[in-house]
Amino acid sequence: MPLIVTGTVGIDSITTPSHGRQDHVLGGSCSYFAASAQHLAPVRVVAAVGEDFPVEFHQRLRSFPGVDVRGLELRKGSKTFRWGGRYMQNMDQRESLFTELNVLSERPPAVPAEFRDSKVVFLANTHPSVQSGMLDQIESPTLVVADTMDFWIASARAELDALLRRLDGLVLNYDEAQQLTGLANTVAAARRITQMGPSFVVVKKGEHGCLFVHKDRIGALPAYPSEVVVDPTGAGDSFAGGMMAALARASNNGHAAEALRDFGAFKRALAVGTVMASFTIERFGLDRLASLQQAELSARLGQFLDMVRA
Ligand code: AMP
Repeated sequence: MPLIVTGTVGIDSITTPSHGRQDHVLGGSCSYFAASAQHLAPVRVVAAVGEDFPVEFHQRLRSFPGVDVRGLELRKGSKTFRWGGRYMQNMDQRESLFTELNVLSERPPAVPAEFRDSKVVFLANTHPSVQSGMLDQIESPTLVVADTMDFWIASARAELDALLRRLDGLVLNYDEAQQLTGLANTVAAARRITQMGPSFVVVKKGEHGCLFVHKDRIGALPAYPSEVVVDPTGAGDSFAGGMMAALARASNNGHAAEALRDFGAFKRALAVGTVMASFTIERFGLDRLASLQQAELSARLGQFLDMVRA
């Protein structure tokens, strides 16, 4: 089942409490998603960057064997999305220091004709109008899942509400689930979101793992117990990349939404996402996803599945 993603491809500045600062890192929700997903399934990327996007960042994205960058538009006269974040001592909380939308505030990137038959669609964090604009260009998607964050809940609520009605699933952080619903309890917030459109909701809780609601079922998974946490940036997007690629694989011969009816397959997809996130945070940027070997991934996934089996 062809998997496609849109979101941000950007330049990050990251400050951590114990591992210093990195000022010019290839980042963005789309980049992390794709670098993670491609370890399990090929992924098509649709995003726009500006003239200032470094050639070596473009090469880096292309160097991931399963990432198809034919939908990455280098837009003349525009500037690339930039974001700066600073992590607190516990590494689980962060503040955004700046968000420069630049190319994101322009027209959505075009989906190449050869990508329009994509079936499994992930709308990673970006403006909800860009997310909707991408979805409009896909002929007959069978599974549509999105992520969103505080910035968009606060600044583009009407567009986000319209998008929610078109989704099968939503992935978001626990504080964002609270912000979206006004409900402090995570389970209640997740259930409320299922009344806004998506039939399943995954709430990410950083080092406390994730909670998910799917129709009348509910579940939770811990995070992988990581000893090395250098830079948590991209953990959420890598989680989504692993989860969506696993769902795309599970639905290879049928309708993607059917993979969701199998609660076991759904939970395994979340386990894959959890393990992918645990690799990302071991180094800055995409470095760990770039060096990750299939054997390491299989070993950690096996260890994690053993760990959660009661
Ligand atoms: P995560 O740590 O998984 O939540 O995602 C981190 C990535 O999201 C960084 O590489 C940023 O470039 C990107 N990012 C930060 N703010 C936004 C935003 N408002 N919209 C889209 N992407 C963002």
